Amino acid sequence: MGKVLTRATNSRRKFLAHSALGLAFAGTIVAGGSYLTRSKQDKLVDNSPFDMAKANEAVRQQYLDTIFADQQKYGVPGWDSFACLVYDPVFERMGAELRRRGVVKKDRVEGYSPGAGLVRWMSTPYFGEKGMKLATYVGKAAFEQLEREDDLLSALDHESFHAQVFHKGNIHFSMRQPKGGKMSQFIFDLMSEVCGFEKQFYYIETGYRKVSKSMLDRCIPMARMLYSKLENVALQETTEGEFARGLIEAIQSRPTARYFR
Ligand SMILES: [Zn+2]
Repeated sequence: MGKVLTRATNSRRKFLAHSALGLAFAGTIVAGGSYLTRSKQDKLVDNSPFDMAKANEAVRQQYLDTIFADQQKYGVPGWDSFACLVYDPVFERMGAELRRRGVVKKDRVEGYSPGAGLVRWMSTPYFGEKGMKLATYVGKAAFEQLEREDDLLSALDHESFHAQVFHKGNIHFSMRQPKGGKMSQFIFDLMSEVCGFEKQFYYIETGYRKVSKSMLDRCIPMARMLYSKLENVALQETTEGEFARGLIEAIQSRPTARYFR
């Protein structure tokens, strides 16, 4: 059974990727396409726009535009802080934009970088003036490595945390913070990453995003590595330590606590 079905699905995919893709993206064709036979409609429904974008690099920007435009359907609170979603296979456009603005982007949280054996799926660099929406750049690795649409949307939930912090200056839960204390860039980056994962896990834990096991297997170790760095900072009797303790305390009362330790 499996073999026959797989072959049928693959050839159907190929057919759709080459002939019907533009129509499927137009969206209205399914609703208004009375000339489509029932079986053809079913085929269009079977192949999610994500599967088509995964199979065909040429339509990935179109796909990102679709999910950006229909945030009611695809997004979660905070997605409205995205300025746009840019398909940027190996982050050349992002690099050019950073250079043009004279921004040096370093991986400031040690151990959390592509150098640690990870390929970056997407990135939301902070540039421009605080209060602006941010562009998120989505690399080809996101389409090559992520298995299903919810994997990609979940990774975007994480990015939306970064966009929201910059755009609105707030986050999606409350935490105790030292009054008047100044945060170093290191603790800001570390806390931002932990919070980004917290947001991502929240929508997984509550059943809103049904991500693949392989997605979780990649995200949880990263989140735990970052969280243990945070625990180390929390041991310090400094303002940084106080920031870290505030976040740890908040996370321990979140439904996502078990993802971090
Ligand atoms: Zn992040």
